[in-house]
Amino acid sequence: MKRTHHCNELRPAHVNQTVTLAGWVHSRRDLGGLIFIDVRDREGRTQTVFDPSNLSKELFERAASLRSECVVNITGQVRRRPEGTNNPKIPTGEIEMVATGLEVLNMAEVLPFPVDDPEVAGKVNEELRLKYRYLDLRRPEMARNIRLRSKVATAIRVFMEEQGFLEVETPIMFKSTPEGAREFLVPNRREPGTFYALPQSPQQFKQMLMVGGIERYYQLARCFRDEDQRADRQLEFTQLDLEMSFIDREDIYNLIEGVLKRIWKVALGIDIPTPFKRISFGEALNRWGIDKPDTRFGMELVDFTEEFRASTFKVFSGAIANGGVVKALNAKGLAGATQGQIETMTEYAKSFGAKGLAYIKVEGGEWKSPIVKFFNAAEKAALAQKLAIEEGDLMLFAADQWLNACEILGKIRLYCADVLKGQGKLTIPADRFEFLWVVDFPLLSFDKEQNRWYSSHHPFTAPVAEDIPLLKTDPKKVRGQHYDIVVNGVELGGGSIRIHRPDVQKTVFEDVLQIPPDLVRARFGYMLEAFKYGAPPHGGIALGFDRLMAILCGTPSIRDVIAFPKTAKGTDLMTDSPGAVEPKQLRDLHLELKVAKKE
Ligand code: ASP
Repeated sequence: MKRTHHCNELRPAHVNQTVTLAGWVHSRRDLGGLIFIDVRDREGRTQTVFDPSNLSKELFERAASLRSECVVNITGQVRRRPEGTNNPKIPTGEIEMVATGLEVLNMAEVLPFPVDDPEVAGKVNEELRLKYRYLDLRRPEMARNIRLRSKVATAIRVFMEEQGFLEVETPIMFKSTPEGAREFLVPNRREPGTFYALPQSPQQFKQMLMVGGIERYYQLARCFRDEDQRADRQLEFTQLDLEMSFIDREDIYNLIEGVLKRIWKVALGIDIPTPFKRISFGEALNRWGIDKPDTRFGMELVDFTEEFRASTFKVFSGAIANGGVVKALNAKGLAGATQGQIETMTEYAKSFGAKGLAYIKVEGGEWKSPIVKFFNAAEKAALAQKLAIEEGDLMLFAADQWLNACEILGKIRLYCADVLKGQGKLTIPADRFEFLWVVDFPLLSFDKEQNRWYSSHHPFTAPVAEDIPLLKTDPKKVRGQHYDIVVNGVELGGGSIRIHRPDVQKTVFEDVLQIPPDLVRARFGYMLEAFKYGAPPHGGIALGFDRLMAILCGTPSIRDVIAFPKTAKGTDLMTDSPGAVEPKQLRDLHLELKVAKKE
């Protein structure tokens, strides 16, 4: 008995055909002397009927002994379901198969959680799902995600090939370049005390491919970052990584808009309009308080620095005198915010170093807040007008250095939107996607603790050409040729035009980033040398593929789009990894443990 059709295939056109299905027992119902078995495979499910009047006793009993998730081959004849018993919810709902043969390929014990009921399965504790991931993957919701992931990966490959890109694999065993995130190290048995590192991204290799004349490279690349995990991170993750020669930023924008357009069409049947909006880093912070703005709703930040420069309210005028700004937002309809909600927002403000959070509730025609008494009529009028204040609104303020003030209100804005969504006062359709480019980032950011500049993106990002002379004199003014692609407040990816001149790259490493010359030589010497032998101008970008898939699948968790993800603690619960190793393995690697071995 060999499968002739999959379980989502049979229709009324197949009536009277003898067919064989293979799959799992999705459910078994014993009804009026008949046994109904829904058999499920990757594609869907089909109802089969075992009728004792035309089956041997032995075969019927075998059917009666089947439990959910047993693996079977069932042969039989397709017929229309009796009048009134169609199941419009499934594509095979008009037919059923009258079984004539049954082969039990494997029995199944009672599962640790059900996979057939989305309601129940959706509520199963995630640790249990991860421990039994092979069962979790049988759930139609997970199967759909994995399938869509494969479909999107294929669409990407087809698109990139059409655009003349070559898929090139780059090494997983690389060397340590401890500039960015913490790395995973792999001890080298051949030379005691030396290590490989797993790549945080194929950045250096893809640049060398450009020097190597490949011109257009892409890869669905696995990257590794040993960071303490936040909710949407994995220690290993996949990027659509690419690099192109002889291009400028416009070419990257064009290409990425094209590939995203293709992906959205293939995956969701949605035509996304291009070109995408472009917003400078400064504008993004000013208006939304974040460098990855969710522009699907308003509540934009408004500047009141001029209005409060001479205010008698010292908290505001003092901050301005210190070189800071006053910004506010109107959380529309949130005057009823609870004490707990106000406290949460105050904590956000404090986490940025603010002393507290100023706010005004507009209730019963009155402005309610201890700070209102300090405001004069002109200040109140300016607030009312620029924030379009109405009954029921909540004004929230930040008076601080520009970046801090923006970021405080940016965080509060997102929190207020969540509260309003919960109250049904803000609805965003699930199929609304607002893409935008964030551009004109500062090339460098300042690390107060270490008292030095570091790269906002990475040290290979090219400065905007006319800013190059400022590198040594006024680094904070230098803009980078860096771009981020954002959708609905999620950073999908980022990249840059790279430095391809050895002298500029050396200046950035040594004079700007203050990396000692011998360290530059040890870590990046080969790169500086490569740039001397005819490096073409080049640039690229990487998109987070897991995050992209989470958006397309409409799930908040990237774990739902990765076949075998790790937990927030970096554990694979199914294989129980990471684990201890044998003393001999350590000896071979010339390693000695300082901690007690994990039992
Ligand atoms: N390598 C960068 C990253 O992983 C992306 C790029 O600059 O192309 O974020």
